[in-house]
Formats: sequence, structure tokens, C-alpha cells
Amino acid sequence: MTPEAILENTFGYARFRGRQREIMETILAGDDALVLMPTGGGKSLCYQIPALIRPGVAVVVSPLIALMGNQVTALRQAGVAAVSLNSSLAAAEQRRVVERMLAGELDLVYVAPERLLQPRTLDLLERCRLALFAIDEAHCVSQWGHDFRPEYLELAMLAERFPGVPRLALTATADLPTRREIVTRLHLDGARLFVHSFDRPNIRYRVAERRSGSRQLVKFIREEHPGEAGIVYCLSRAKTERVAEALSGVGVTALAYHAGLDHATRERHQRRFLVEEGVVIVATVAFGMGIDKPDVRFVAHMDMPGSIESYYQETGRAGRDGEPADAWMLYGLGDVVKRRRMIEDSEADDGRKRVEREKLDAMLAYCELASCRRANLLGYFGERLGHDCGNCDTCLEPPETRDATTEARMLLSAVYRTGERFGANYLIEHLRGEVTERARRLGHDRLSTFGVGGELKAREWRSILRQLVARGYLESDPEGYGGLRLASAAGPLLRGAEPLRLRVDRKPERQGQTRRRAANDIAESDRELWEALRAERRRLADEQGVPAFMIFSDATLRDMLLHRPANEEAFLAVNGVGNKKLERYSAAFLRVLVADGKADSV
Ligand code: ADP
Ligand code: ZN
Repeated sequence: MTPEAILENTFGYARFRGRQREIMETILAGDDALVLMPTGGGKSLCYQIPALIRPGVAVVVSPLIALMGNQVTALRQAGVAAVSLNSSLAAAEQRRVVERMLAGELDLVYVAPERLLQPRTLDLLERCRLALFAIDEAHCVSQWGHDFRPEYLELAMLAERFPGVPRLALTATADLPTRREIVTRLHLDGARLFVHSFDRPNIRYRVAERRSGSRQLVKFIREEHPGEAGIVYCLSRAKTERVAEALSGVGVTALAYHAGLDHATRERHQRRFLVEEGVVIVATVAFGMGIDKPDVRFVAHMDMPGSIESYYQETGRAGRDGEPADAWMLYGLGDVVKRRRMIEDSEADDGRKRVEREKLDAMLAYCELASCRRANLLGYFGERLGHDCGNCDTCLEPPETRDATTEARMLLSAVYRTGERFGANYLIEHLRGEVTERARRLGHDRLSTFGVGGELKAREWRSILRQLVARGYLESDPEGYGGLRLASAAGPLLRGAEPLRLRVDRKPERQGQTRRRAANDIAESDRELWEALRAERRRLADEQGVPAFMIFSDATLRDMLLHRPANEEAFLAVNGVGNKKLERYSAAFLRVLVADGKADSV
């Protein structure tokens, strides 16, 4: 069997993506490979197809049981003999798996590293014919990353104990230090390296100024993603609960997820998110790895993440199926102040703090961009886009910028003259000349900066202030009372030696309106059939107790909509329909499609 034949017959796809074919070639030749591909890039096929071609069983190491369960269910849907070997299996089932492995009846066995490393498992593997080892989420060997798994370090021994069995390490973590760590720690010195572009063209990046918070989110979900699955990230546990409540209040199925919930509740929420359609999970960063759901249509950040790495990883969970998805973030002055505080208050040493500050600055610069967001993100990871993407808010609706030198100087002087110890609200009142009890008591109403900025609205001042903090002209005072003081960069600007251009924030009613699209871009005339296909998928999924996307992905349904297959042959040509799925599901879906065709012709 050739990789092409399996791609088509088993998985139902017409062509390989990127370098999938080359990667398979490497493994088929018996060599090792390290694959860096973004989430949704199609890493799994790189070892699944060789597993079906090479004699023997392929061992896939994966860090989470939930993740393995998903992969196994999806493979079985395609008719592949796959199992996950774990402690949740009953003794008899485990014995059965062992027998089938020894008899060479299984194509893929998924196993967690701690199970793999047990002497009895290793002994078992020595008695089996092995096709390959795939080490998924290979960045778990990195001691500096947040997904560090000590057992991953011990996987290095596979090289010595099973020489001649090709190994494939895969990850979506792109940076160079992690890459180097994977190579040394897993003894992959001779491995061929495959670095895929990290661009996710189907994700639309958007950043909006935070105003009402929850209400903006409600509007976004209602107008752009009604009935669709999404993840909302919040900084604190309490906030996840609040936001989930606000969404539930307007009829969105929203569930909270954070480390403070008991295990059973977390499991239940995660399961509902996976299996039901249109569930929104409102989570802290505790929710992430292992969420292998391809049809997440949006990832929303209610608070700004602390680094581009985190942001990219979190937003990457949207649209793994390649269909249009949104990465939507709210951002405001509070984030800047809060994040800076978190770094200063942390226990980290000075070196570490400096690195964190730099990462934060890159994140802030991203928020305030007036140019293509995707170009900036990819540039951060060392990749050049070379053109504007046309699918981010700044490309679709270029923001205005204006010369704000005068206002910035007014603001910096006001900070200086009031003694570098007041927060945003007081400074804005001062500039706008609002006579308050406090201003009078302190004599600030007699300062030359009092009231010089009366022609700008408080909101406009807030925007300028935020940008000055984001760009490092102002910093929050180390005492932590929210006061702002001049940073060293402020000097030249204050002296008038340097001009400054700032973004003009959009009017609130226009924010986030970047080319609104109907849910999933389905044409009005196709809606009825689309819903009928979804309902059929839902019915079949419920029957088997599996997530709907495991029957067919949104991309596959969309292809049905486009080609309207009327017989089995045409149905097999649909993207994502392989032999097994043809056999199992063609009758049910053809009934829906044909009924619709008849309705059209009358
Ligand atoms: P990753 O593990 O890299 O995040 P997956 O392996 O889960 O990504 O693949 C993401 C989606 O893309 C899956 O639905 C998968 O079936 C699909 N896919 C992978 N390769 C192809 C291909 N060559 N053609 C069409 N779809 C593909
Ligand atoms: Zn762009």
C-alpha cells in the first residue's frame, strides 16, 4: 500500500498537506524525524499512515489519557485497529490488548509515558514486532516549558533499547531552545528536522479595547458564533465563574473550568465541551493541552496573556479543522498594569524577570499594532510573511493613527507635576480640569497642567495613557498602589525631541465589527440543508456516544453542501470520506441530500 492509497481509502483525503509525505517517507525508510507543525497542521497522519504500512504495531506516546481516547475513537471510525493501553481498562481487556499486540493484529497502540516505562510494558514490546515509536507533544521534555513531564526524559532510553525502530517526535511548540532540548533529551541527533510554517491562515486575529467586558463578549458570540463551540480565557478563577454565568444568563451554554473545581466537575465540563455541540468553556489557562477538538470556532481572551507564546498557543486551539475561526481579545490599561505587577511581585530572580518583561513588551506591542497582526506574530517566531494577511482586524480595517506628541507631553508633564504617584483616573480628571476635593486639598488645581486637556474626552485620554504605558513611557510605581511614574524613555518625548504617533481607538459601536459574517459562512439558501446534515451527524454521534466531529468534520459537511453527492461514488469523493465511513454513513447522509435535491426541483 502506498501512502497515497491509504490517505484516500482510509482517511478520505485527496492530497497531502505541506511536508506530510516527506515525513512519512523518512519513517518508512527507517529513519528518525522531528516534526514541528502548528496545531491542526496534520501531525497525526505523519505516523498513522506509516503505522499502517510498516509491519508490526506502532507505539504512540501521548501525555494524556483523554487525548489518547479521542485519537483512538477517531481512528476506529476510519476502520483502523487502534487501542489505548491504560489503567482504566479492566484486567481482561488489558490481557486481550496484549494478545492482539503479540499476534500482530493491532496497527496502533497509544500509551502514556509512565505506562510505557514500566518493565512489564517494555518486556511486552520486546516480544512484539514494532513499526515505529511516535512521541507526541514532545515539548513535554522541556524543563522550562509549562507542560514539563519528568517521565518524558526517560523516553531517551527507547533509542538504546529498541535500535532499528524509527522514532518520530512531534510538537506544536516552535521556539529554538525547546527544539534543541527535544533533540538532546530524546537522543534524536540523527533525526531529520521538519519545520512547518506556523501560520494559521484560517484564524482571524482581532484585538478590541475593553469597555464593558462581558457585554462585549455576549455581543460577539451572539452575532458571530451563535450555537458554536468556543473557549473563553480569563485570568482568574472567580472571573471564569462570573463570565460563565453572564453567558448562561443570555442562553449560551457556558461552563467554567479551572483548577479550583473538583476533578469530577472538570471532567464533566470537558466531556460536555467535547461531545455536545455549541458549548462554550470559560477557563483559566489550566484548560488547554489535551483539548483535541477540531471544531472550536473561536478563542476569546477576556484578559491579555503574558506573552506571545501563550497567546499563540491558546489561540491555536481554534479552527484545527482549517475552517474559519476567530481569535478575539479584549485589552485595556488594566492588563498592562496588572501584568507588570505580576512580574514585579513574583519570586523569580532578576534575570528571569527581565525575560518576562521583554515577553510582556512584545505582547503589548502586538496589542497596539497598527499593521498586520499575523505578520507580527510570525515575525516573533522568526518567520517572514512578506505581505499583509488580509485576515486580521488591522488588515481588514486599517486603524487610523495620528500625531499625539502634544497630548503625550501634556500627560507626561501632569504625571511629573503631581508627583508621580497618581493613577489613571486622577490624572485624567486633572487634565480635564475637574475640580475635586482631593485636587483642591493637594493644590493640584493650581498647577499649570490642570485643565490643559479639556478638549479630549476621558475615554480618549485613557487610550493615550494606555498606549504610553504599553510603549514604556510610563510605568506603574513599584509600591503597587496603581500610581504611574515616568520611565526613562519619557525624557526625549517630554523635551519635545521626539514625535509620537498613536492609534486612534475605534468608536465602540464599530469595534469588533470587522466584516461580520454569519455563523460558519453558510449561504442563506444552503442553511436548511446544512442544518439537516448537522442534525443527521448529531443523531449518529448520539447513537454511538461519540463527539459529532468524529462522524464527519465541519469541513466534510461543507464539502457535501458544495458537491451535493447523489450516489455512493460521488459520496466517496467528498473530502474526509474514506471506505469505512462510506460503508457506515453514506446511506444516512445520502437520504438527507437526496430529499433536499427533490425539494429543490419541485
Ligand atoms: P495536529 O495533531 O497537528 O494538531 P491533526 O493531526 O489533528 O493536527 O489534524 C488536524 C485535522 O486536519 C484533522 O481533522 C485531520 O484529519 C485533518 N488533516 C490532516 N491531514 C490532512 C490532509 N492531508 N488533508 C485533509 N485533511 C487533513
Ligand atoms: Zn493581517
